[in-house]
Amino acid sequence: MPHITDPLLIVTDLDGSLLDHHTYSWQPAADWLALLRQNTIPVVICSSKTAAEIQVLQKSLALEGLPFIAENGAVLHLDVQQHSDSPALSSQVLGKDYSTIRQAMEQLRSLKGYKFFGFGDVSEKEIIEWTGLSASDALLAKQREASEAFIWRDTDERLAEFATDLALDDLTITQGGRFYHVMSAGSGKGPAIKWLLDKYRQLDGREWKTIGLGDGPNDVSMLEAVDYAVVIRGYSNIPVELSPLQHYVYRTQSYGPEGWSEGLSHFITAV
Ligand SMILES: [Mg+2]
Repeated sequence: MPHITDPLLIVTDLDGSLLDHHTYSWQPAADWLALLRQNTIPVVICSSKTAAEIQVLQKSLALEGLPFIAENGAVLHLDVQQHSDSPALSSQVLGKDYSTIRQAMEQLRSLKGYKFFGFGDVSEKEIIEWTGLSASDALLAKQREASEAFIWRDTDERLAEFATDLALDDLTITQGGRFYHVMSAGSGKGPAIKWLLDKYRQLDGREWKTIGLGDGPNDVSMLEAVDYAVVIRGYSNIPVELSPLQHYVYRTQSYGPEGWSEGLSHFITAV
């Protein structure tokens, strides 16, 4: 088990994990966040949220400047401090961009009559209703770069058919806590984490250990890509099943940020 003084990287989902599913509060995780900061352990946010949303949250969480992964792995931001001389290197879109994805979705809808509402179909008002976000946060949620979030208003069979059609365009569907997401096939939280971890190891040659925390099916590839996986108790009706190759799995009793702290206390020796 890792000690708090080891080269350690924390990779975390936001909604339902570090943030409470209903209130978006992280207060129950505040003590652990402070301890990680004291020990200069990077907390890398890995979320379905947009880069614009995550940057605001990073400020509130005192995680500014750290790398993060947005839109379920489709957008990657590196450590700003390391790339301050070449900002072009600091942000990468992995895969197709937003307008290409929207185009493919709209084409299939007009062709086959699929019933869904994406963020691109609605105003901030609907997004506020769906998420409980504030008006300014809903605006940030609409600033999508490489994935589309949507709610499905059709049958499960039709959803499977939609997924098959999207696959022909090299697109894939993943399920988050509230929404489904369309993104490039082959991208995801897991591949993005692997890419980032390689960068970290190249940078200083140290064998960084990783702890991942998540509560939803869209976190599976991330939880399989880390050394220690914390499955936070969630509200999804789909169980979070990990490959048997992941030997270190802890499932929390508590939900959200309480579960987040519970998971870190399980794996990290802090004294
Ligand atoms: Mg989640």
